[in-house]
Amino acid sequence: METVRFDELDLYPQVLRAIKEMGFEEATPIQSQAIPVVMSGVDVIGQAQTGTGKTASFGIPVLHKVDPNNKKTQVIILSPTRELAIQVSEEIRKLSKYMHGVKILPVYGGQDINRQIKALKGGAQIIIGTPGRVMDHLRRKTIRCEAVNTIVLDEADEMLNMGFREDIETILEYIPEEGRQTVLFSATMPKPILDITKKYQHDAVTIKVVKKELTVPSIEQYYYDVKRKDKTEVLTRLLDYYNPKLSLVFCNTKKMVDELSEELKSRGYMAEGLHGDMKQAQRDRVMKAFRSGRVEILIATDVAARGIDVDGVTHVFNYELPQDIESYVHRIGRTGRAGKDGYTCMFVDPKNARTLEQIESDIKYQIPRRNIED
Ligand code: ADP
Ligand code: MG
Repeated sequence: METVRFDELDLYPQVLRAIKEMGFEEATPIQSQAIPVVMSGVDVIGQAQTGTGKTASFGIPVLHKVDPNNKKTQVIILSPTRELAIQVSEEIRKLSKYMHGVKILPVYGGQDINRQIKALKGGAQIIIGTPGRVMDHLRRKTIRCEAVNTIVLDEADEMLNMGFREDIETILEYIPEEGRQTVLFSATMPKPILDITKKYQHDAVTIKVVKKELTVPSIEQYYYDVKRKDKTEVLTRLLDYYNPKLSLVFCNTKKMVDELSEELKSRGYMAEGLHGDMKQAQRDRVMKAFRSGRVEILIATDVAARGIDVDGVTHVFNYELPQDIESYVHRIGRTGRAGKDGYTCMFVDPKNARTLEQIESDIKYQIPRRNIED
């Protein structure tokens, strides 16, 4: 698949710097396709499965659109739940770290409305909220939308499942249609969503990232429920228990690769990291050490591991869940080569349970869960 670097996408240097700091190595397929189109200002329908980076697909473009000198609300993002609203606002806040004057505020039900009203009075150009609460604020005029030029319906299928259709339509009626950019992202596109897009969007461009049919090699696959803070502990216990000669540990970001390899080295493991920011000579050195067995544990991002073909890798650990089914299949395919035994496992933070379900449904196999005590 064609890969796109963020620095090929014509972004503000401040945003690129933040992306780099977040450790994203390259744009995901939905990001590389959707970012330029959303940035062009047209209405967009974006479809890609869970965990593929849809947030940044609209989060990055809206940061290029807001006027930091205007304190009025310019962007409203609707999100199905309080948790997702918080997650989305944290992600956009990180992306905006080096932009001055951009304020991002989540509003959701269950939080004291007077506190929210006070926060709203301080001015926020980007508001991320659950439909019910946003509607409430629009009615009270504590969110005013005369300067709103962009509305994003994030996880639209979930919002409809939760019965927010009427609220969403009410909110869309509030926002001036003239010059409005209406963007919708969803993992699936059932008919009610298409009805909304027909009613409220104009000449929308559809971007759909479809998944390919893939065959999954017959390898032992397991998952463990592991909270983020316990991951290193669990990994070292598994490494001690299986004592694999050669193993691969996958992370999603360069930052995580660096952190984890330092942590394992400091605990005395023969581990090295591999990612796209390393010089070619350095990468060659690490790969040579891994092939010869001087390095037993290779911690890598998907990009760095692309094309790695090392005989004798018996264990693949998904320290972080893969972003899509292609990477999962690619990751686990690094082991069990040529009919040899392979063991793979995933660390699933309960927060990522949906990504696990998505993987299972793609490979049509229910991955058994193991407990660390077993
Ligand atoms: P979706 O909305 O499609 O379910 P998210 O936007 O929530 O997916 O992203 C899932 C995870 O992937 C988040 O932790 C996010 O920070 C991370 N992520 C997003 N884009 C990238 C990227 N280009 N490289 C690495 N990680 C990414
Ligand atoms: Mg999302």
